Amino acid sequence: MEHKKKISVAIDGPSGAGKSTLARAAAKELGLLYVDTGAIYRTVTLYVLRRGAEPKDAAAVAALLPEAGITMDYDPSGLQRMYLNGEDVTDQIRSQEVSMAASSAASHPAVRAFLLEMQRDMAKRRSVVMDGRDIGTVVLPEADVKIFLTASSEARARRRWLELQQRGVSGDFDQLLRETRERDENDMNRAAAPLRPAADAITLDTTEINFQESLARLIEIIRERTGL
Ligand code: C5P
Repeated sequence: MEHKKKISVAIDGPSGAGKSTLARAAAKELGLLYVDTGAIYRTVTLYVLRRGAEPKDAAAVAALLPEAGITMDYDPSGLQRMYLNGEDVTDQIRSQEVSMAASSAASHPAVRAFLLEMQRDMAKRRSVVMDGRDIGTVVLPEADVKIFLTASSEARARRRWLELQQRGVSGDFDQLLRETRERDENDMNRAAAPLRPAADAITLDTTEINFQESLARLIEIIRERTGL
């Protein structure tokens, strides 16, 4: 369903706060398009890794950008699929290696500039719920609703551990916690578009509440602000 006035909802927050699952569910409930911008950064990062470049090396990464053809579409069930030079890489971009490298590759201003228009363009064409790190601050500063979705690093590492457990993979909690903190550190302390709440963002902390409660609260905030 498309709304007459384009509505945009910006959801930012640290890794593992449940942004993508919550944002996708809220978008579905409200009839908006869900855009996962982390997946776009991950796709660029996969290209960098495949080419054997160091994700921390700004010049090496910038030199590869013109060759990285990033496109996306939605499958019939509404799942966002990512393509790298025409190849469907939706599953490959979810590895832990890509997760860690993405927070380095995403720190380069050239990478952020390269992906900025693509993200803004989606919001111009459709009503969206867009999740990322800088959506409310940089990508869509005029968003109708801005939410900063967060949880303690322990809660986020524990959720990741449970998620792996459910997939039959045994994760090491201490290592997951270290990686969570390392990604926070990268995302919050970079010079270009660091992770931080927009001045007019509403903070939703899900440390003490479960998924259903978080979703109900998220939908309530969006409805209040947009009249949907
Ligand atoms: O959200 P996700 O974990 O998939 O994002 C992967 C990485 O991409 C993050 O660690 C972050 O560094 C980067 N990112 C970003 N800005 C966004 C979305 C993601 O810097 N809007």
